[in-house]
Amino acid sequence: MIRDYFRVVTINLTSGQSAIVEVEGRNEVAGGSGLAAHLFAKYGHMDKPWDDPEQPLIFTIGPLTGYFPLMSKTVCAFKSPYHNQYAESHAGGRSALALRFADLDAVVITGKASKPVCISLGSRRIEIKEVHYLWGMDVYATGKYFRHMFRGSGHRSILRIGPAGERGSPMACINADTYRHFGRLGGGAVMGMKNLKGISIRGDATFLLPENKDYPKLFEEVHKQLTDTEMMSKYHDLGTPINVIPLNKLRALPVRNLQQTSDPNIAGISGEKFAEVALLRNNACSGCPVGCIHIGFVRERFAKENRYLYRQVSYDHEPIFATGSMLGVLDCFKVLDIIDVVERMGLDVMSGGVALAWATEALEKGIISEKETIIPLKFGDAEGYKEAMQHLAMGTNEFYQTLSKGTMVAAERYNGKDFACVLGQEMAGYATGEAFFTSQALGFRHSHLDSAGYSYDQKTEEKDAGKAADFLVKDEQGRVFITSMLACLFARGVYNDELLGKCLNSVGYTDLASSIPDVSRHIQKLRWRTRFATGFDPKSVSIPKRFTEIVTWKGKIDAEYLQTLKDEYAKRIIELGTDDNKKTE
Ligand code: SF4
Repeated sequence: MIRDYFRVVTINLTSGQSAIVEVEGRNEVAGGSGLAAHLFAKYGHMDKPWDDPEQPLIFTIGPLTGYFPLMSKTVCAFKSPYHNQYAESHAGGRSALALRFADLDAVVITGKASKPVCISLGSRRIEIKEVHYLWGMDVYATGKYFRHMFRGSGHRSILRIGPAGERGSPMACINADTYRHFGRLGGGAVMGMKNLKGISIRGDATFLLPENKDYPKLFEEVHKQLTDTEMMSKYHDLGTPINVIPLNKLRALPVRNLQQTSDPNIAGISGEKFAEVALLRNNACSGCPVGCIHIGFVRERFAKENRYLYRQVSYDHEPIFATGSMLGVLDCFKVLDIIDVVERMGLDVMSGGVALAWATEALEKGIISEKETIIPLKFGDAEGYKEAMQHLAMGTNEFYQTLSKGTMVAAERYNGKDFACVLGQEMAGYATGEAFFTSQALGFRHSHLDSAGYSYDQKTEEKDAGKAADFLVKDEQGRVFITSMLACLFARGVYNDELLGKCLNSVGYTDLASSIPDVSRHIQKLRWRTRFATGFDPKSVSIPKRFTEIVTWKGKIDAEYLQTLKDEYAKRIIELGTDDNKKTE
């Protein structure tokens, strides 16, 4: 049912009370990213630290969730333990559809439980259950318990944390339905700080579709467009790991802590190799006919009993880069072994891999010793990295506690800033050049998905900082509307403004449909204003020296152009966040 307001459930873990609240603003903030910032303004505290129990943990969906294919994502928003500023993290899985079927547009969790708890919520009932016996359990074991406790399949979603989240690591993720993650910027620590081990969402209400004639026709058209395209078959067949070989050929793949941008033996972790020897099956987020989630297997041998245990582990380009090329591990089964440990611990895989890559080089350079790393980290040594991931998650000693606060925190403490591969947070798996480095370093989520800087690098030879900054601002604006609808960004080529307008119209959101440019501009500014209000200063962001030392297919990175572009983009972001009247295009 469409509404001109948002139906939000608020849950206070200190008092144990919950309520359904109607929040105005549908035509101004749409949903998803826009709604998350809107709710943070209402329930969040700009000046209090991330771990103040009053800070909210917010989950939102969009106005088209459930109505069209690939509207499958959920936004999670919070004040981040990574930088103590407002942050968003996005995940697929089943939570978006489960919330739609629970007749909710958003969940806002405040307070802190006195003992470990989990939340079970549906359309008619909300329960907070004590689960002290799950504290300390890894993500897999916790998932088994939750599936047993909250029986039923279909539109049920289970979000949970592992040991990294429990101890408040800024690198802790929230696992979403086993194979997806709210990975970046420490959402898992926010749950841990609240003593919240997991959330079960039951989509237990009915969900009526529009009865007009246009809707089914449009649905069919959109479905066809999404499933007929070459792009979608690419995501289904090999998945995002299809990028490994082309990036390696371009000399744009981060290898061994970005000391290299390609490796002659990369075929061992290519998408083709994974598909040939390690792929078990594909999986999909709810409401997605594409199914880009690739699941491989790891095999554990119990020598005494002479038997094997097989576990299923999902893989994508980013985990492969972070635990593979970045660590010099070029065998797909060894990569899956490391990802398996990361999953158990509830770590963000990109942060974990990049952090250990820095630690390995720091050890090689002698600025830290085995006293700090406990084990002799060596590029290519998967067994060592499996152990080190556990130390990183558990914060075994002072070194790992510091490293788990962020690679740059450790780099400052141990004097290794020049080779810390940090762009706002640990880098993503692209070393394409100046536009990407700027875009991730300054981007709202410090994500490779904030804007297509990596693609701009590949398409453009000219070094015009003004044009590049224009592109980044404009591209972010388009993406912000998509993430407010909560479409998967893989579908961004199909879901342009025109099609989104038709979709909104067919469902009944006619005002939103007629004001997409204004609403997306408003949301873009609202998000930046919220970020600035929590302390972000784009001028203070620096890009470590390592990023200027590399060579890509275009030649050596142009440090001067990188600096000019960074300054120009910082200026644009400041305009977005501070001046409501200034035109952004
Ligand atoms: S394309 Fe992949 S990530 Fe996107 S909605 Fe489908 S399964 Fe999920």
